[in-house]
Amino acid sequence: MSKVVTRFAPSPTGFMHVGGVRTALFAWLYARKNGGKFILRIEDTDKAREVEGSIAHIIESLKWLGIEWDEGPDIGGPHAPYLQSDRLATYKEYALKLIEKGYAYPDPFTEAQVEEWRKQAEAEKRPFLFREHRPETMEEWDGKRPLRFKVPEVKRYEWEDLAWGTLSAGEEALDDFILIKGDGYPTYNFAHIVDDLLMEVTHIVRGQEFISSTPKFLSLYDALGIARPHFATMPIILGEAGTKKLGKRDGAKDILEYREEGYLPEAMMNFLALLGWHPESGSEILSREDLLASFDLARVQKGGARFDEEKLLHINREWMRTLSSDDYVTMGNLSAAHPERLTKIVPILKERAQTFKEAREMLHGELRCLFEAPTLDIGLLTGKEGEGETGTTKGHLEAVKGLVEGLHEGADPEAVKAVLMPYADEKGRAAVLWPTRYALSGAERSPDPFTLISVLGKEETLLRLTAAIDIL
Ligand code: GLU
Repeated sequence: MSKVVTRFAPSPTGFMHVGGVRTALFAWLYARKNGGKFILRIEDTDKAREVEGSIAHIIESLKWLGIEWDEGPDIGGPHAPYLQSDRLATYKEYALKLIEKGYAYPDPFTEAQVEEWRKQAEAEKRPFLFREHRPETMEEWDGKRPLRFKVPEVKRYEWEDLAWGTLSAGEEALDDFILIKGDGYPTYNFAHIVDDLLMEVTHIVRGQEFISSTPKFLSLYDALGIARPHFATMPIILGEAGTKKLGKRDGAKDILEYREEGYLPEAMMNFLALLGWHPESGSEILSREDLLASFDLARVQKGGARFDEEKLLHINREWMRTLSSDDYVTMGNLSAAHPERLTKIVPILKERAQTFKEAREMLHGELRCLFEAPTLDIGLLTGKEGEGETGTTKGHLEAVKGLVEGLHEGADPEAVKAVLMPYADEKGRAAVLWPTRYALSGAERSPDPFTLISVLGKEETLLRLTAAIDIL
């Protein structure tokens, strides 16, 4: 078999969403896995739907994920240009070839005429087929009229799909579709076939929405006398509930929004790879290397892939946990008043935060007490004094203070615990540990007192304990 060449061919009609990136990822993985090439081609032939800035956005999204291409609009390559709007002369050349072979004709009809046929077919409850209205005589193509394909043979088509197996469709799927529109731009149906041929694409990886048009593509391959490439169809991505197609709210959003929310690209790639595929090993945490070693188009599933937000969060947390404390702080854009304390609480963040956005929120929420001295409420401070214990809190805090004074600098939570626990066990855990924790945090919920002491350090701990003792 010739060298594998795959491509990602997005239309610049807006931001990149999960489905688009997943297709790009699978095409890229397959090419890399097989030592082949991966091409980025921009299909900008529908000028009305084009959204400014989309191309830069597509490139940025792919780069964020670490998907690199060997040929593309930004880096060129042997089959340049990679922007379809710059290839109009090439499509015209192939259009003329088809005319010459008798497989294309200019559409001589007015919109009103076509509309009438359409209505008539509808009234008779049969599909409207353009090929039933072919003009008697072929005019010369002036480049201003739409150019239509003349399906050479109306027949049943069968084809192999690497993921779906054998597929087939009957004659109703074939029609004289437009090759070149009145504005001079080719249709997707035509342009992608010419480009895939010239760019030597061996495997077409794309979404399920193209299955119904595949017979049209096959008849065009036949008319041009070219070999079919391999097809691999990606399953649709279903929303959280697993019943309907993914909507804007549950993940069909801009992929770069995930970056803003503090997802790691490794996690996103890992998660996307599992949308419609899984390795034989069944493992869920997969690095780029793991994916490259195990990916195969033949293992792509047919059924819709559920977009499971919880799974994404879980995978992201796992990837965040692999970072060193310093990297965690830097990559998470974390900042706080006392950088040394920030580094110390990374283990807590690693336990709890599923995204860096959550980590940042924690620093301003439940972990804020680590960076800002609290204001205390006497009622809460003494709130755990049991019956017959009224007024004992002050004494406990003084005792704790004494124990903290004896700690060595930089004691970790375990060491702090070893020093405090005997006293707490003797006097009552709640009576001692609650006011200690509250005196240090001023919050009803916070990390445990040992962690607080370890992170705050001796000096700050003693200041806070003294402040609590003073108000009692
Ligand atoms: N331009 C098409 C799209 O964005 C590409 C389909 C294909 O990969 O052939 O949907």
